[in-house]
Amino acid sequence: MSRSLVVGNWKMHASQAQVNELLGALKAGMPALDRIEVAVCPPYPYLMQAAHLLAGSGIALGAQNLAVEASGAYTGEVSGPMLGDVGCRYVIVGHSERRRLYGEDNALVAQKFRAAVSHGLVPILCVGEQLAEREADATEAVLAAQIDAVLELCGDEALAGAVIAYEPVWAIGTGRVATPEQAQASHRFIRDRVSRGGRTPTLLYGGSVKPDNAAGLFAQPDVDGGLIGGASLVADQFLSICKAA
Ligand code: 13P
Repeated sequence: MSRSLVVGNWKMHASQAQVNELLGALKAGMPALDRIEVAVCPPYPYLMQAAHLLAGSGIALGAQNLAVEASGAYTGEVSGPMLGDVGCRYVIVGHSERRRLYGEDNALVAQKFRAAVSHGLVPILCVGEQLAEREADATEAVLAAQIDAVLELCGDEALAGAVIAYEPVWAIGTGRVATPEQAQASHRFIRDRVSRGGRTPTLLYGGSVKPDNAAGLFAQPDVDGGLIGGASLVADQFLSICKAA
């Protein structure tokens, strides 16, 4: 693990004016990017605008989803080559909102992961259990199934070189953050499952990360950074979280 990584997932928020304002503030206030790496993932229509604004800043660009296919008659879809063409380095795959609201299952998420890698993007694979699964002591079984689907399709090497975000579903947008110990336990489990041949993934924690809880989470040995939702839309908050990484 070299630099910590902090990624902002803007979800379905922003306007052209807000992109200008938010990225202007991030560029002005961002700490030196030698110790940390920072990326933002705006909605598709703002990717090019963000790419222009971020040029030369060192802040990387990512998307929130991609199609399995590279091109063709797939109305409404956006492909990996397109994302690379407009300057994306990262793409989120398997976010719990896509799994829950759009029916993406482990097999489809694995295909999206493979598509991202094959088009030169770095996938940020999201995994995490629902509250009922945690309460039923099934957290590790859920994480294992989510990870193994990708391992089986893409192989050990692809996953060991990727970014994996542990996002317990009960902590997303709820203000109910995992304790540092809960995050560490799941991260350790994930790292043990996917590290191969000296390679190990970058492991992000996501779910109600805020300026006042970021440092405690990032201090855990297997937490390499964060995937930030709501707080990534508020420049001061996102900058504080970047500084805590
Ligand atoms: P919140 O930080 O708003 O809880 O969202 C987390 C998340 O889903 C990031 O992908």
